[in-house]
Amino acid sequence: MQKTFSIIKPDAVKRNLIGHINQIIESSELKILASKKLYLTKKQAEIFYEVHKERPFFDSLVEYMTSGPVQVQVLEGNNAVANYRKIMGATNPAEAEEGTIRKQYAESIEANSVHGSDSEENAKIEISFFFSGSELV
Ligand code: ATP
Ligand code: MG
Repeated sequence: MQKTFSIIKPDAVKRNLIGHINQIIESSELKILASKKLYLTKKQAEIFYEVHKERPFFDSLVEYMTSGPVQVQVLEGNNAVANYRKIMGATNPAEAEEGTIRKQYAESIEANSVHGSDSEENAKIEISFFFSGSELV
């Protein structure tokens, strides 16, 4: 069993898609251990996407990620990190496979509806950023 961290991003929360996206997640092998809605602060969004700080889209990305509430979640399952990335689909929805969350719901390469950790190590860091151990049930 492995855990991963998921964010349902502002574009999807705004369009009332939390339930639709979680239906896809729960229809796969993944279990939702924890889930809460919050606003990312500018500081949190900057730290979260720090690896992209030199990229031309960084300022716009931080503005978008703080433009409305997000749903942060911890998912668990076999191979959860890779499995959730597969269910999400490619970063650019134009390149995402049929049936993936981003293919169905993403608006653009930036407003792409969901985040998923890209490694087990990053999943641990991201989970501990938002949840305490006792919240994971
Ligand atoms: P995430 O980290 O959110 O799960 P990802 O791992 O698929 O997405 P990254 O390359 O880490 O993709 O990019 C982080 C986020 O930055 C993307 O999900 C998207 O919201 C935004 N982004 C990435 N590339 C671009 C781009 N070329 N133009 C605008 N926004 C972008
Ligand atoms: Mg990423």
